[in-house]
Amino acid sequence: MVNLPNGQEDTKVGNYFVSNYPPFNCWNSQNVGLAQERFRRSGPTDVPLGMYVHIPFCRKRCHFCYFRVYTDKKNRDIVNYLDAIKVEASRLAETAFIGGRKASFLYFGGGTPSYLSHEQLNDLISHLRKTFPWDGMEEIAFECEPGTLTQKKVQGLRELGITRLSLGVENFSDEILQTNNRAHRSMEVYRSYDWIQAAKFPQVNVDLIAGMIGETDENWHQAIRKVIELNPDAVTIYQMEIPHNTTIHKEMRQEGRDIAPVATWNTKRRWVAEAFAALESAGYTVSSAYTVVKDPQRTKFLYRDSLWAGADMLALGVSAFGYLSGVHYQNESHIEPYVKSIRKGYFPIWRAVGMTTEEKMIRQFVLQMKLGRLSTDIFQEKFGVDINRRWGSIFERYEQAGWLSRHGQTIELTREGLMQVDRLLFSFFLPKHQID
Ligand code: SF4
Repeated sequence: MVNLPNGQEDTKVGNYFVSNYPPFNCWNSQNVGLAQERFRRSGPTDVPLGMYVHIPFCRKRCHFCYFRVYTDKKNRDIVNYLDAIKVEASRLAETAFIGGRKASFLYFGGGTPSYLSHEQLNDLISHLRKTFPWDGMEEIAFECEPGTLTQKKVQGLRELGITRLSLGVENFSDEILQTNNRAHRSMEVYRSYDWIQAAKFPQVNVDLIAGMIGETDENWHQAIRKVIELNPDAVTIYQMEIPHNTTIHKEMRQEGRDIAPVATWNTKRRWVAEAFAALESAGYTVSSAYTVVKDPQRTKFLYRDSLWAGADMLALGVSAFGYLSGVHYQNESHIEPYVKSIRKGYFPIWRAVGMTTEEKMIRQFVLQMKLGRLSTDIFQEKFGVDINRRWGSIFERYEQAGWLSRHGQTIELTREGLMQVDRLLFSFFLPKHQID
């Protein structure tokens, strides 16, 4: 029997998206030594390497936000934090695991990386460039909140070498943005978009969320029309989930409600499917369960594709995630212990988990499924596993449900399957990881 959690119609509290494997509830502080030990041994030279930098500052906390963010930090706190990241970078560069390996991708996530001033970003990126070999760097991705941008900052980002700029539009309705406590308004989207176009980034992505509080069919269809008018290289659409530590969940608890005040999962899936169909008619191609791209030949997303295929990644900053050839780790989850740990000369690791070869195989499979199609050959070659034999009964069941098809070495999700891929993935987890 296939286990399908979160299949209810109503949106309830909990994490819906599968962003990693094994699940976070089995990462723990007892395993921190595994990551430390990994840093002391030389890393593989044939595995791509990247870096993730977490900038945890935002102008306001969105009601649906579950990330580690601060809205009250003073300039001195921010400077101290950036100094700590620089020290962390220098320390990481000296590890045997890095040993001169070249990183090919760098991702600035948050929080709001664009909350930083041009001078702060220049200082941070210059330090990273001096600290790590830079001649293999192919992609620098950077998340922006529209209201934090100025023309000078946008131009500066281009000059600092950002190759993929991602604009967190989320919705075009000021009323919906306000209801969800989003800091920006639509005027700031249009103003910043002109600057972004003028700066000519190699790639511009626009983020939307299907199912913010107050979303309606009419407004969503308008949002689709507006994003097509903007004509970005890529559009990423998330279905609204309500994890435990969000303001929305807090309010639900106070009011004794267990159903979130957002659309049902069926409606959110339909909205994303409608958006994908409209974007396809406008010339875009679906490249994952969340993203469409205008030109699949030109518009790559190295961070996603490398990570989902097993690349190593260094974590820099508070609560940042990293991966060291079979060991996942996450940095200290609060800014004060993070900075303190750096100042004491430690790696600021909070929790970690080591993986067996089987778990590595499952991780690669579930993450690749989010692209919508994969080749079974890779699993045979890399792990010696025939996934058709291993998961044949699940595949059959999903085929019968109309969510998946198999031809030759290819396993492909139907559009209906792609729209709900995250809930379909739990069935491939080891039984001990299927606990919701
Ligand atoms: S902008 Fe992003 S990181 Fe900041 S509060 Fe909103 S959802 Fe969270």
